[in-house]
Amino acid sequence: MTKRLKNFINGKPTDSKTDRWGDVFNPAVGTVASQVPMSTKADVAGAVLAAREAFEGWAATPSVRRARVLFRFKALIEQHMDELAGLLTAEHGKVLEDAKGSITRGMEVVEFACGIPHLLKGEYTDQVGRGVDSWSFRQPLGVCAGVGPFNFPAMIPLWMAPVAIACGNTFVMKPSERVPSTAYRLAELWHEAGLPNGVFNVVNGDKEVVDALLDHPDVAAISLVGSTPTAEYVYRKATAAGKRVQALGGAKNHMVVMPDADLAHATDGLIGAAYGSAGERCMAISVAVAVGDTTADRLIESLIPRVKGLKVGPGTEPGVDMGPLITRAHLDRVTKYIDQGRQAGAKLVVDGRGLRVPGHENGFFTGGTLFDRVTPEMSIYQEEIFGPVLCVVRCPDLDSAINLINGHRYGNGGAIFTSSGEAADEFVKRIQIGMVGINVPLPVPMAFHSFGGWKGSLFGDHFMHGPEGVRFFTRLKTVTSRWPRGVSGGANFIMPTMK
Ligand code: NAD
Repeated sequence: MTKRLKNFINGKPTDSKTDRWGDVFNPAVGTVASQVPMSTKADVAGAVLAAREAFEGWAATPSVRRARVLFRFKALIEQHMDELAGLLTAEHGKVLEDAKGSITRGMEVVEFACGIPHLLKGEYTDQVGRGVDSWSFRQPLGVCAGVGPFNFPAMIPLWMAPVAIACGNTFVMKPSERVPSTAYRLAELWHEAGLPNGVFNVVNGDKEVVDALLDHPDVAAISLVGSTPTAEYVYRKATAAGKRVQALGGAKNHMVVMPDADLAHATDGLIGAAYGSAGERCMAISVAVAVGDTTADRLIESLIPRVKGLKVGPGTEPGVDMGPLITRAHLDRVTKYIDQGRQAGAKLVVDGRGLRVPGHENGFFTGGTLFDRVTPEMSIYQEEIFGPVLCVVRCPDLDSAINLINGHRYGNGGAIFTSSGEAADEFVKRIQIGMVGINVPLPVPMAFHSFGGWKGSLFGDHFMHGPEGVRFFTRLKTVTSRWPRGVSGGANFIMPTMK
């Protein structure tokens, strides 16, 4: 019988009350590996109750003690790195070393959150008036919830929960129903690190769980990472219910290649950023904007052998560059986009469709695809494909490249490759995206900076982790204090000023 997964509530494995189950695949072989519960409203209520009951004690725990739990949690992630990467690759398909890289990026958020005593230090002003002092400090929100996408099963839960928990909140995580096992294992590691019961809970499921979290009056804040329609839906519903929300959405990231760019670096950058993790990254570069026809011709010529030479196979096999896509439905969707690009008149330079990986004939594999002469009205340019498909758009100059990017509805990340400081400066100042690279193809901010996009790539006011994460998971309180001496001067009816 297929293994049935559990939730993790109040410090222990918990069976869902559901009669709906979803299949979790191993995408490299195309078979069902386990079944995940599509948890019910009652399951969510149980998790939120556990988190609510744990909140008071956890919020009152000195931040230094909270940090000690985080230090132990970080050590456990390191200790279990191979095991976590194995779980992740088995359900997602990405290459093992890439899985480890993503877990490490998540672990760095734990390291950042270990500094919470320093991060929560407030501001103090002596003598705002005679005998009157004032200070500000930040307090936790209460029960916070997280909703994850399929493409980063460990890193994205680790973008959210460590900062929330360090700040004194309690947390309910709903991982993607396609990749549930890594977040569940992280819950066990939190427990082993000494986190009190109820502070971190995992409830598996789909939209029904998300809606139950959005409808629950005891959930104070929601962090979501997913596609733009989901992010927008969650943002609207959460704000209407008076919750704080950060909802990160989809992307179409461009990399501008200037005529003075180092071609070898630009090619290496594009190959890794477009085809790494089979293009299933919100920071993947899916559009190369070549400035000038000569640049475009040289770039295409240098990309062709590299795209044709990509080694595609199961993520567990050494030397593989790119694993399978997440589901058969997603593979069909990516294939359909390639069909559409051809029909719309883009030049299909390398066609990854129909790839067969020997011994893994039922896996969800596709090869790398490269299009030249893509134009802005094509669906392959407009929409997020989320697969290993790179589109080259030709632009006459930097100004038109910037205008092209600024005209796109997404604004997550992007990069410019150039040897000109002037061009880089112009790009940085004018580009309407949240994360910019200069000769860096994947400008994913480190844990102590903050991650987020603009426009259709982020709904809400706060980026994730780093200082923005601390602001999101706390609210400010400002105190004005006097300890009276002598006789009261009587009531004062005018606005107090410094006259
Ligand atoms: P998705 O939107 O299908 O699902 C994301 C999460 O929301 C899942 O947990 C899912 O169960 C839930 N969900 C799905 N539909 C819902 C609905 N109608 N109502 C409520 N909840 C719903 O996204 P996905 O396919 O899992 O992930 C890929 C997407 O995530 C891509 O668009 C990618 O760009 C985006 N992403 C963005 C970032 C970022 O930082 N901006 C990072 C990673 C992934």
